[in-house]
Amino acid sequence: MSTTTIILILAVIILGALISYFIFRKESLDNSNFEQRWRETLLKEVDFYKHLIPSERVRFEVDIVKFFSKTRITGVDTIIYDKDRLLVASSAVIPLFGYPGSRFDNISEVLIYKDTFNHQYETNGKNRRILGMVGDGVMNRHMIISKPALLNGYNREHSAHNTGIHEFVHLLDKADGETDGVPKFVLQSKEVQPWLEVVNGEIDNILAGNSIIRPYGATNEAEFFSVASEYFFMQPKILRENHPELYAKLVLIYHQDPAEGLGKVVNS
Ligand SMILES: [Zn+2]
Repeated sequence: MSTTTIILILAVIILGALISYFIFRKESLDNSNFEQRWRETLLKEVDFYKHLIPSERVRFEVDIVKFFSKTRITGVDTIIYDKDRLLVASSAVIPLFGYPGSRFDNISEVLIYKDTFNHQYETNGKNRRILGMVGDGVMNRHMIISKPALLNGYNREHSAHNTGIHEFVHLLDKADGETDGVPKFVLQSKEVQPWLEVVNGEIDNILAGNSIIRPYGATNEAEFFSVASEYFFMQPKILRENHPELYAKLVLIYHQDPAEGLGKVVNS
């Protein structure tokens, strides 16, 4: 056997090993950095986590630890606690839970403000109606969430309002470069038009007073997507009952069927 043949065979073996490593390797689900007291907080505060089977809870915990390792969470004029950090991370994990191993790559820091704020980012004074926002320009890769709004999103029965999830859905929407209510990052191109038809029909329903989705959802397609998604994760059975077509589209987008069980992953 010539030296060239041996080198060629070795190259093929090494290449094969590399390919199988990168394609077939399973992400290790190591939750050893997840603290027991965090588990207790999630069980108390986050319904989604509480409903998961044990193996999926481990996946949720791993996703949280990875989120913490990639994203700074900073309190602005307010002290933040583990609970606040866990609720921010949960809001990031829930929308992507149907895509195991996927994470937000377009965020570096979440700023937690002590209260609602205005367009000048002031938390004192008048016209402070903003609960959260995904930053653009100099604030790119940053998100701001009002602390009371974050806390109110969880552990409230019968509420379909969750500011944390709302903002991370904007971030998912933005992953393709545009915050336009069409999450091309997770929606196949042939599904874009049917999705927009449902969105615009539902916006008309809100404007006509024929929707359970709160009026803010009629602001534009992007706000509709975020507000409808809050409903999808917080009150899925009610959404499915009242807006079955919209619900089905969201199952397609999120690969989750929460009305059948929170955290139920489907490969639609
Ligand atoms: Zn919004």
